[in-house]
Amino acid sequence: MSRPALGGSRKNFEEKVLVSQNRMVVKVGSSLLVNEEKLTPSYAFIHGLLGDIATLRAEGKEVVLTSSGSVALGLGMLGADPATAGVQEKQAAAAVGQPMLLNVYKQIALEYGFDIAQVLITLEDLENRRRFLNTRNTIIRLLERGILPIVNENDTVTTQEIRVGDNDRLAAKVAQMLQAQDLVILTSIDGLYDRNPDEEGAQFVEKVDDVADYLEVTKSTSSLGSGGMMTKMQAANMAQNAGCTTYIAEGTLERPVTGIFSGERRYTECVAQTDPASSWSVWLTDRLAMAGSIVVRSNPARDIRSGEIGVRAADVVSMSGDFNKGDVLHVFDEDGHEVARGLTNYGSQEALILARHPDLPSKETLGYAASDVIINRKNLILLEEHHLHWDQPAEEDVLEIGEPSQS
Ligand code: GLU
Repeated sequence: MSRPALGGSRKNFEEKVLVSQNRMVVKVGSSLLVNEEKLTPSYAFIHGLLGDIATLRAEGKEVVLTSSGSVALGLGMLGADPATAGVQEKQAAAAVGQPMLLNVYKQIALEYGFDIAQVLITLEDLENRRRFLNTRNTIIRLLERGILPIVNENDTVTTQEIRVGDNDRLAAKVAQMLQAQDLVILTSIDGLYDRNPDEEGAQFVEKVDDVADYLEVTKSTSSLGSGGMMTKMQAANMAQNAGCTTYIAEGTLERPVTGIFSGERRYTECVAQTDPASSWSVWLTDRLAMAGSIVVRSNPARDIRSGEIGVRAADVVSMSGDFNKGDVLHVFDEDGHEVARGLTNYGSQEALILARHPDLPSKETLGYAASDVIINRKNLILLEEHHLHWDQPAEEDVLEIGEPSQS
């Protein structure tokens, strides 16, 4: 059998995503789980939710719940005001609120005859491939044991710069991780509108193919949670890329999930890609944070786009970020268009040295013989139309390389 030619994205020769037909991730926001004034658990909602999950489980669905609410509940227990609480107060609140939340889930789940497990995730668990797979294996083991995994970000140990920040994208990453078929995002509104729903003439959107059409109009956030409709759109895009369909709907007291599928109420459906790339490509391409970036000259950028080359040290114009070997870098052309994302062979210090002295042997610059390729072609995924492109980092964070020295 001949090996397919390299070129275009890695999707051509990587194994495809196999979507698990029976797997579903349900994400529930703080505004449904916590009473906004008293900051106490909304028992009635949690009862309805777990009752509905019990129904899905009985139908043979493997359900994973991504639950917010720990910070809001914890702030209530600490007597703090969500509107003014700072980062440390919220971290402490998460430590207080999370066991409270899980305790409520556990009591109610046991009434429905199943058990729950707590899975607290950090940004690194999603961005680092080894940790990503490790987390995946754990969740799958829990599902095999018939336990409902309840996922949240480990807010207590994560600070602003190194956190996911919203459970919409966290849930989408979990959906990618598990190759789930459906992602259900339950929120306080019935779905997506084509502009701020408070504006006159706002139209409900039933179906979304390209979430990029709605990013601008969805920039407001809810009072209790961290997300808003924009993070839901970003999440839906990640799910789409992995062949998973997202349903955004209001979290009702009765049949909050099954009511969507039986058509009892309206919802927004963000339709899955029918031909998703491999799970490795999807993991690599959909990022939650930018570890670093590289700008390459125009001609090499064109050759990268056509799949001919990777990122070579001599082609680098500037770079940003304090990254490590194995991190995913965003590659831009000189016009600021994002071309690709790929795994770097070098940390930022070494990459900078190689880019500044492409003409010198690496034995002299790095002290050992090394390749002049910063990102290998096979570890570089070219961005396609359906990917959400990122902006370049601010100018003050960028290091210019300067013209290669002539020696
Ligand atoms: N992880 C946060 C919490 O449990 C919620 C993040 C969000 O609202 O999306 O409270």
